[in-house]
Amino acid sequence: MNVSDNLREIEQRIEKACARSGREKKNVRIIAVTKYVSSDRAQEAISAGVMDLGENRVEDYKTKYDLIGDQVNWHFIGSLQSKKVKKMIREFDYIHSLDRLSLAEEIDKRAEGKEISCFVQVNVSGESSKAGLNPDQVITFIRDLASFESISVIGLMTMAPMIDDKEELRSVFRRLRELQVSVRDLSLSHAPCTELSMGMSNDYEIAVEEGATFVRIGSSLVGSE
Ligand SMILES: *Cc1c(COP(=O)(O)O)cnc(C)c1O
Repeated sequence: MNVSDNLREIEQRIEKACARSGREKKNVRIIAVTKYVSSDRAQEAISAGVMDLGENRVEDYKTKYDLIGDQVNWHFIGSLQSKKVKKMIREFDYIHSLDRLSLAEEIDKRAEGKEISCFVQVNVSGESSKAGLNPDQVITFIRDLASFESISVIGLMTMAPMIDDKEELRSVFRRLRELQVSVRDLSLSHAPCTELSMGMSNDYEIAVEEGATFVRIGSSLVGSE
């Protein structure tokens, strides 16, 4: 498996999805999710041109971070325990899993003035196994984040269900987009909410058609072992 060929294929598919939906490819960023793979594979992705890496466990990213450092943007995409924020906060540029005030409070406390770009995670599909806020809690939650000076809500994030029904997937992404637009239109200074983190290996083309600005791609880009 060759990461650079995979990246080229994914970029072509994204380009086509953009063409179908009247978007520009430059507005879609690919996060290489390296949680399953070695530092070597992460390095290959960087050599191929990836500028963003995603990791989901505080225990696991450190070896890669120590080798790779700040030549890429680091995205934390997994559920985050408050007691672990202190360890990771200096190294990550984006957190995609903000889903509770206690976590916001800890991020704000540990950020020491650094602005942290956060996505509020939304459980659009309502599956009990999934993290994230219920869609109807999102606006109140985001308003409540105003007092945390380090937190900038740059967008919303969701994980779609693991299903093959394309129209069902599309409706999940579309609902996240509608919610993102309604938050953006509130014009809150701490929550510009212009971004959408959605789409993984099996559904990123649909996510791009529905407005994704960050896709999080693991297995089909860098592999899964
Ligand atoms: C693992 C993971 C991904 C990537 O999944 P693939 O299906 O391998 O592309 C994306 N987002 C989150 C939150 C993940 O945990």
